[in-house]
Amino acid sequence: MSHRILVVEDNAANLELLVDWLESERFKVQTATTLDEAFAAFKGDLPDTILLDVQLGAQDGLELATWIRRDPKLRAIPVIAVTAHAMTTDHERVMRAGCSACVSKPIDFQLLREQLDRWLTVPAKAQPRR
Ligand code: MN
Repeated sequence: MSHRILVVEDNAANLELLVDWLESERFKVQTATTLDEAFAAFKGDLPDTILLDVQLGAQDGLELATWIRRDPKLRAIPVIAVTAHAMTTDHERVMRAGCSACVSKPIDFQLLREQLDRWLTVPAKAQPRR
């Protein structure tokens, strides 16, 4: 079973790069380019992890992280922030908003793969016994 990743990114080139890479890694990918599109994405099957660009044009991507952490149905979904700012203050802001991890742009895909592996670990009791 492949994991479902929701990518929230407003920049078309960045979005394409991420989607191409995730699909090559055999993830199922959903995309959103605004907060509204991201909120709408939770009406269907829930993603296993969210990749969240913190700067969605004029919108603050971290609003989505805060909202997810307050929703009992969504609370457990890991959110990996993608930020252009490698500054410590920004990292703190990201973690305070409820993100699970933070990767900076330009994306180091090996690092992203490590974060995905880390956060996509299926709890032992959820795995079927054979
Ligand atoms: Mn952006």
